Amino acid sequence: MCRFCVDKTDYIDYKDVRVMMMAIPERGKIQPRRLSGACAKHQRKLTTAVKRARQLALIPYVTD
Ligand SMILES: [Zn+2]
Repeated sequence: MCRFCVDKTDYIDYKDVRVMMMAIPERGKIQPRRLSGACAKHQRKLTTAVKRARQLALIPYVTD
């Protein structure tokens, strides 16, 4: 079940660091769909949001 669909989230906010950090649990890599459980639509939005957040240095490219 896609948690973004559950929350009826239409827009994933790249400024929401909490959501961004959940999306990159392992060494800054974006969580694949099979682990995140997000549907195709929301996974795509999530990926876009994470990339935007990285450019703005809200989240790291690589974490240790
Ligand atoms: Zn969804």
